[in-house]
Amino acid sequence: MGYRSVTRDEISALLTEKGVFPTPQRLDVAQVILSRPQHLSAEQIIAGIRGMGSRVSKATVYNTLNLFCERGLVRTVEVDPSRQFYDSTIEPHHHFYNMETGELIDIPLDGVSLKLNTDLPVGTEQAGVDVVIRVRGAQPAAD
Ligand SMILES: [Zn+2]
Repeated sequence: MGYRSVTRDEISALLTEKGVFPTPQRLDVAQVILSRPQHLSAEQIIAGIRGMGSRVSKATVYNTLNLFCERGLVRTVEVDPSRQFYDSTIEPHHHFYNMETGELIDIPLDGVSLKLNTDLPVGTEQAGVDVVIRVRGAQPAAD
């Protein structure tokens, strides 16, 4: 699996634009997660960085991912309390989550329509909706 043609300079410029000082470790994390639209767990990102021959601590990767979230470079998708993914597509959209393979697949924003049959809590406004639809392999029909 090769990482596409986003150059180190382009990634550096993107980080700077978002107010993130581009240290070598941050560039490593950014190169793995931001090179294309994808969903990766922190463990997969760490493996990707080590696969590039870089040595970086887990704590640094987690801190960097938190910073990237704060600055709007990535967003998190939580499929259950024990599984969080980092998504390089920050525009609002929804997901299918394959419970068997662990794969997240994007659903365009207009691919889900939600009809809310109740009022929002008093004094609030809707700030966003993230839908995760869990799927699994279809069971063969019994004879
Ligand atoms: Zn996504």
